[in-house]
Amino acid sequence: MRDILPPETARWRRLNAVFAEVVGAAGYGQVVTPLIEDVGVFTRIGEATDVVTKELYAFEDRGGRHVSLRPELTASVCRAFAQHRPAALPWKVWYTGPNFRQEKAQRGRYRQFDQVGVEVLGVDDAHLDVEVIALAAEFYAQLGLQQVELVVNSLGEPEDRAAYVAALETYFAGADLTEQSRATLAKNPLRVLDSKRDHDAAAIAAAPKISEFYSGAAAAHFDTVQAGLTRLGIDFVVEPKLVRGLDYYRRTIFEFQGGTLDSAQNALGGGGRYDGLVEALGGPATPGIGFALGVDRTLLACDDEGVFAADVAPLDAFVVDVVGGQEAAAITAELRAAGIAADRGFDDRSMKAQMKLANRSDARVAVIVGDDELADDTVQVRPMARDAGDQQTISRSELITHLKEFLDAS
Ligand code: AMP
Repeated sequence: MRDILPPETARWRRLNAVFAEVVGAAGYGQVVTPLIEDVGVFTRIGEATDVVTKELYAFEDRGGRHVSLRPELTASVCRAFAQHRPAALPWKVWYTGPNFRQEKAQRGRYRQFDQVGVEVLGVDDAHLDVEVIALAAEFYAQLGLQQVELVVNSLGEPEDRAAYVAALETYFAGADLTEQSRATLAKNPLRVLDSKRDHDAAAIAAAPKISEFYSGAAAAHFDTVQAGLTRLGIDFVVEPKLVRGLDYYRRTIFEFQGGTLDSAQNALGGGGRYDGLVEALGGPATPGIGFALGVDRTLLACDDEGVFAADVAPLDAFVVDVVGGQEAAAITAELRAAGIAADRGFDDRSMKAQMKLANRSDARVAVIVGDDELADDTVQVRPMARDAGDQQTISRSELITHLKEFLDAS
């Protein structure tokens, strides 16, 4: 876990604002769910996933309740849907916030990490899959990221998937795999396809493909999704080995991979269509689709590509008061109330020391009050940039008007 400090935090806020705008413009409303849920909400994600078996921050609270910090938000959103039963479908929501997984920390992998995401419940239409994928693509585009690859696959209908898993089990049983992948095979044969170990590569390349198992409906759904993405001009590659971690996915799944990150951590975000989760959480049978995009990793990708920099909005004015500090208090309050971003020096420091602070603050003007100004009810207004004009004596009553004109003009 780590601290996020200014000015990086400003970038996080901007990223959230960009996301809120993209999804807000598509009719999604924000949902906020608790950081802690009954552990059962998360164990329903699937008994065969690392997120559940190894990584949950689960504990017993003082009331003896078995709870867990959330490792992701899809299950929480489905729990909220099952609980509140919104009448108008599709229910289109977005979220932002931290998740917790006890993973081995490294660059791009933390134990507390943030995600932004959407979930849409109640509609099975393949065109919705296209909308959801397009929203994520638009978000990355708005950040300025160019080296993001969209990878899509379909896991077919649950029966297709089951037949495929059985075929994989038989195939891999006779294949040359690493010991780690043999262990994965015993728990979750699909995840063997995720192995990035060289020794497994040949066996995986020759493994049966999910597409050989699609029913007519699954194939048609996937065709519509691909045609829809093409129609919107969204580049993608079909990757039959893409399975994604969680058990509840069916039909469309997708991932956005960052071109600049190490392959083990290159998934910037992903999602897919799921069934059964709302039902498992006590609601009616409801189809769902969504994605979660990792904020930490997305910002690493932005650093690597040199886009969406952490620039801070500069101050407009820095108030220097060498007559005891009361004037600075009054003037900064007046400026801030007028919408002019202002800071000031403290601790009754010398003129020279306060001017140094004004310089360092990057403010565009210094507003200076000394004995003469106090006596005359004036201030000195000094533009900080070298060629932004001369220092002027301005009467206190005209300060706001003068500053606004100066700030607008320069
Ligand atoms: P998942 O919920 O596992 O599908 O992950 C979706 C996205 O969340 C990933 O593509 C990552 O960008 C991000 N993510 C997942 N786990 C972590 C983690 N431990 N640290 C940082 N980001 C993560």
